[in-house]
Amino acid sequence: MPDIEEHRKKIEEITLEMIKLLKTRTDIAKQIGDAKASLGMTVTDEEREDALRAQVAKLCKEIDLDQSTALKFLNLLLNESVKVQSGNKQTHLSVFLKAKALEEEGKKIIHLEVGEPDFKPPEEVKTALEEVYEKGYGKYGPAKGITELRTALAIKHVTPNEENIMICPGARFAVYLAITTLLNPGDEVIVIEPAWPAYKDCALNAGVKVRTIKTTLETKWEPSVDQINNAINENTKMIVINYPNNPTGKIFNDILNMISDVAEKHDLYVLSDEIYEEYDTRTEKEYKYSSFLELNYKKTIITQSFSKSHAMTGYRIGWVVAEPSIIEKMSKLQALSLTNVSEPIQYAALQALKADTSDNTNMIKSRLEVLVKTARDMGLEFIEPDGAMYLFARTKHKNFDATGFSEKLLEHGVAIAPGEGFGDYKEFFRITAIDETKLKEGMTILDTVLKERYE
Ligand code: PMP
Repeated sequence: MPDIEEHRKKIEEITLEMIKLLKTRTDIAKQIGDAKASLGMTVTDEEREDALRAQVAKLCKEIDLDQSTALKFLNLLLNESVKVQSGNKQTHLSVFLKAKALEEEGKKIIHLEVGEPDFKPPEEVKTALEEVYEKGYGKYGPAKGITELRTALAIKHVTPNEENIMICPGARFAVYLAITTLLNPGDEVIVIEPAWPAYKDCALNAGVKVRTIKTTLETKWEPSVDQINNAINENTKMIVINYPNNPTGKIFNDILNMISDVAEKHDLYVLSDEIYEEYDTRTEKEYKYSSFLELNYKKTIITQSFSKSHAMTGYRIGWVVAEPSIIEKMSKLQALSLTNVSEPIQYAALQALKADTSDNTNMIKSRLEVLVKTARDMGLEFIEPDGAMYLFARTKHKNFDATGFSEKLLEHGVAIAPGEGFGDYKEFFRITAIDETKLKEGMTILDTVLKERYE
């Protein structure tokens, strides 16, 4: 019989030693983070991480340790490093907050950084809010949402029935629920960058390791099969796609088939964030899919929202489409954390679905055209967006620092979103297609500051 007490002591000693090592590791990671920030380097170095992964795998073989457990542990450590090293980044949100502070001081700011429609929700929403009190919508309700709205959304998507739908307080919460409930700490998720930062942040928060695939302007923001295959290992559980993309406006076409095949082969979830679906501005209908749903892959999770299509950002309402077993898992955390989405807002959304929103789509389309033309006249480099409401561009200047530029521009009353908020894109910036007059005014200032500073 082993001496239990002696073994317990040994385990406790090892544990305490590990905690000490963790402290040293965190301190060093912090120092590296500060050095990286001052050198303008990105936090994550995928090549270096891959090399370390290979070393861990080799060591596991040598010492006969389960590789999957060791790699999960490595992911937790890598995530801790990312956490202590992140935080210096300028995002569209940090610029927005600075712009707001300047406005409070009385300065006039043209907001080209925020991703929010500047028009009103449909009239149907106003009527719904007037009648909702009398209709009695205002009680606790089912965590997955009211049946009327789930059924209406099921009809919109042509999915079998409402069991495939769950109402959420916005697509952001839907993304959070999917990542938090479907993945475990140490698992990996693939994010194709440039990307809306919340996918990464949700993963980091859940102890899930992010593997980023960097796409480029030169490859028209499309990942290659090799890039995707190389990012997959035994801990990979999900791939996130978003199109029309924030920030590039790119819509994936043929590669959706490839993504579905790869996902099936490796049994991965596909989280397809389609909140800009109605802002698909392509004219020739040569495209194959309007939603990943059409590929009929069983582990698909679609996140959707009323925020952009119906200009209802502040109402906080969106939805998820997925297999009932996935909905079941996600709804448990929703029930735990917020009981259900506010019933009056669900009713307003139900009525909003009856509205014709084609005017919104047309308005965004014509604004994007103005933005594209102005940016082209200014000599900016970009791919014409297929949809969404943004332009992701760089200048022709080598080593252009978009973060520094956005700070300078803010002093001149124009806010833009620096590219570093969307991944390793320090030379890029995102411009939102807002109302034409303001957009042109903002772009003229942008052009002037650019010339003053760089020519
Ligand atoms: N997904 C993407 C790609 C977004 O850009 C945003 C918000 N800008 C969201 C989701 C969040 O949408 P919601 O307002 O429905 O939470």
